[in-house]
Amino acid sequence: MFGKILLTVAVVAIIWFGFKFAQRRLEQKARRDQDPPAAGPRPVFRPDPDGESVQDLVKCPACSTWRSAKQGHCGLEKCPY
Ligand SMILES: [Zn+2]
Repeated sequence: MFGKILLTVAVVAIIWFGFKFAQRRLEQKARRDQDPPAAGPRPVFRPDPDGESVQDLVKCPACSTWRSAKQGHCGLEKCPY
């Protein structure tokens, strides 16, 4: 007798929590659909026509950093730039 009551309570609890879980997931999905990420045109990178904003980086054999050749000497004695 006691076992039947316990089983009934367990089944009701499982259904209750399962329903709550499903409802929470539906709410989260609805919230996600409601406010999509910032609308509007996405930012696009447009390099300057003079080519100054886009430069190839070269690896310095002395300090192993990647830097623009126009930056000049990195400070180390063996630096070729
Ligand atoms: Zn260097």
